[in-house]
Amino acid sequence: MTHLTLQAITRRFGAVHAIDNVDLSVPDGKLVCFLGPSGCGKTTLLRMIAGLETPSSGSIHFAGRDITRLPANRRDFGMVFQSLALFPHMTVAQNVAYPLKLRKVAKEKQTRRVAELLELIQLPHMANRPVTQLSGGQRQRVAIARAIASEPQLLLLDEPLSALDAKLREAMQVEIRLLQQRLGITTIMVTHDQREAMTMADEIVVMEKGRIAQVGKPLDIYRDPVSEFVADFIGLGNILPVQYDGAGGVSLPGGRRIEVAQNPRAPRAPLTGAGQPVQAGDAIRLLIRPEDICVKAATDAASPNRLPGTVTFIRDVGASLEATIDCSGFTLTAATTPRETPGLALGMPVLAELPPHACKLIAARAAH
Ligand code: ATP
Repeated sequence: MTHLTLQAITRRFGAVHAIDNVDLSVPDGKLVCFLGPSGCGKTTLLRMIAGLETPSSGSIHFAGRDITRLPANRRDFGMVFQSLALFPHMTVAQNVAYPLKLRKVAKEKQTRRVAELLELIQLPHMANRPVTQLSGGQRQRVAIARAIASEPQLLLLDEPLSALDAKLREAMQVEIRLLQQRLGITTIMVTHDQREAMTMADEIVVMEKGRIAQVGKPLDIYRDPVSEFVADFIGLGNILPVQYDGAGGVSLPGGRRIEVAQNPRAPRAPLTGAGQPVQAGDAIRLLIRPEDICVKAATDAASPNRLPGTVTFIRDVGASLEATIDCSGFTLTAATTPRETPGLALGMPVLAELPPHACKLIAARAAH
């Protein structure tokens, strides 16, 4: 069941179209991330769902009801913001109990619910501690417990982890995801961190300049981005300007031809992600992810998709290894491991193999 639907939502601030004609369905019980660069409209969209901002046009429905103009305090959604906004003069338990108190829940029930929630966030022993005496991660958990105290049907999180250091942030990503799955609560989270979105989301909504660039499961978007913008924003990728030759091949910068697999969605000619059949001579982009490039010894047999190059940089972090390869006219980044490519060294001539099935053709970014 789809719980939340946005129809043709637009929000203008003067001449700025912060959100431009957005349609979206958020499935029940899922965690959806709004992902995109700064200023793309993520927060504005979340605030409209929360009721803290009113759309200029369009409608928002929740559980079958039009809530477009319903005030925030009557939506009963749980919210956690970047600042967390915990009450500093209160204890952990008082913070968590606050929404229950507002709703005039009976005292005994409040106590029971707070105990349950503190158990859930694994801080039962800290009930009486002032929130100012907690670590960043503990404060984070208290903010979440407070947001879900009154059992909201929708949880809205706006960059809730951005104040935490990298290690704690990764731990909290897993913690929030597990909690969300356990409770089955429909959750929308704003982030500009693609790794965070990939780790946590059932679905990612990639946003670009007030519009939705792509919606999908994290790996589907990673493997099949619809545009250069999405390909560039999600994960590391080699994106090369190429020309399609009309016969299953592309010419790379410098003129060398390689073969690309037929896109399964287009039986006759590869499709760009935008859904347009590619014509011979079209300027498009070739996307190949670093982990799909095989680095071979320069003495291996030549083939059309094995490109001669020279290793110009190596980032070796122990478990994995990233090599930059200069192929005269363009560079490629290949991800490998010390075991797969023993003896790889700077200045070494190699062959970079681009398997045809891993070469994706995508629409070039629109000129500005
Ligand atoms: P960030 O990741 O930096 O928080 P964002 O993707 O959340 O960015 P928004 O904060 O939603 O982006 O802003 C979208 C656009 O709308 C921006 O151009 C911003 O300057 C503009 N904007 C947002 N709120 C207002 C406002 N109250 N008045 C005028 N312009 C606004």
